[in-house]
Amino acid sequence: MIEYSEARELVLASAKKLAAESVPLTRSLGRTLAREVKAREDIPPFTKATMDGYAVRAEDTRPEPGKTEVRLEVLTDLPAGQVTRKAVGPGQAVRIMTGAPLPAGADAVVMVEDTAADERGAVIRRAVRAGDNIGLAGEDLKKGETAVAAGAVIGPAEIGMLAAAGLARVPVARRPKLAVISTGDELVEPGRPKRRGQIRNSNGPALTALATQAGADAIYLGIARDKKASLTARLAKARGADILVLSGGVSVGDYDLVKSELEASGVCPVFWQVRIKPGKPVFFGVRGRQLVFGLPGNPTSSMVTFHLFVRPAIDRLLGRTAVGPESARAVLGETIMLKPGRRQFLRGVLAGRGPILRAVPYEDQRSGVLRSMVRGRILIVVPADAGRIEAGQEVEILFLDGS
Ligand code: AMP
Ligand code: MG
Repeated sequence: MIEYSEARELVLASAKKLAAESVPLTRSLGRTLAREVKAREDIPPFTKATMDGYAVRAEDTRPEPGKTEVRLEVLTDLPAGQVTRKAVGPGQAVRIMTGAPLPAGADAVVMVEDTAADERGAVIRRAVRAGDNIGLAGEDLKKGETAVAAGAVIGPAEIGMLAAAGLARVPVARRPKLAVISTGDELVEPGRPKRRGQIRNSNGPALTALATQAGADAIYLGIARDKKASLTARLAKARGADILVLSGGVSVGDYDLVKSELEASGVCPVFWQVRIKPGKPVFFGVRGRQLVFGLPGNPTSSMVTFHLFVRPAIDRLLGRTAVGPESARAVLGETIMLKPGRRQFLRGVLAGRGPILRAVPYEDQRSGVLRSMVRGRILIVVPADAGRIEAGQEVEILFLDGS
């Protein structure tokens, strides 16, 4: 039996980054950027008006002593999307709209609310300083600066930034193919008739969903019965997958064939059994470049071990900068008493509205209780040697949501 940190390192050491592919920008949400994208020009590309009004030389907007306003000659009208060759000289202005490039000679914009217009030009009622109401070329990004870093997960803001940098297609990491197999003689798929002694296969759908959420291309391969032939047939179908995730059959029971069958089919074991709760019997091995996880059958154990081991592996294959569930510190909302010996991952929620994060464990932590995953948003990490942690003490938490 090994420690959690060692197990995690062993998984990460086996997970090699996948090749890149190109996808349309509009289809890149949730993908991982494979290469750094730099700004190929300043963003924005030119200095522009950020208000409707008059582009002016700021020094021309200060009234003479005793006066309250200044009159300027208006050279032309400049809507967004247009340019003018006219330069603003002393005593002159250009009527300009938000987003239009600042004409040569001008160094500020007087907002239209502070002006009046008549046939003799523009009346400026408020002086401005150089730089007022303009946005500078490159104020978002200078040419050559990083627009989005390699390994970033592409969200709406990244899509905006990549669009601003002019990319119609984006280099992203190929999605790892992840095959899911449920094992167990007692399992029945939802929608099928169920006899006494049978239960619904909840891990198959849950693990497939976790894989999809984590950025993998998940393929569900159905239920393998606790018989060699059934398992071998399913394992053969998973040959092409980058990751294979099985649930059930990895404990020490008479029908727990997964480990021996995996090894018989060429999977080299890396570890079996980790000093954690839930999820102790978790198995990990490799078959060539394929990563193979045998997760425990209990619904909560299978989901928790997916978060702890499979998610980091997917992140690594994708080349993501952030690997595994995001971690933070929180204050324990209530005193907990546990049997020491294994590092525990309690399902819980963050209570209250801040400013301090308060982590509260779900009332039922038994590994067959899927309710704790439905309700839980975080895992509260309890070190192996802790028997009791008082309310108010600081703990590590892992976020279950998102990817
Ligand atoms: P096992 O790891 O195969 O010994 O299974 C441990 C427990 O989890 C048993 O109660 C199983 O019935 C249950 N279990 C195993 N696989 C699934 C599954 N796919 N869906 C729901 N429960 C399962
Ligand atoms: Mg079983």
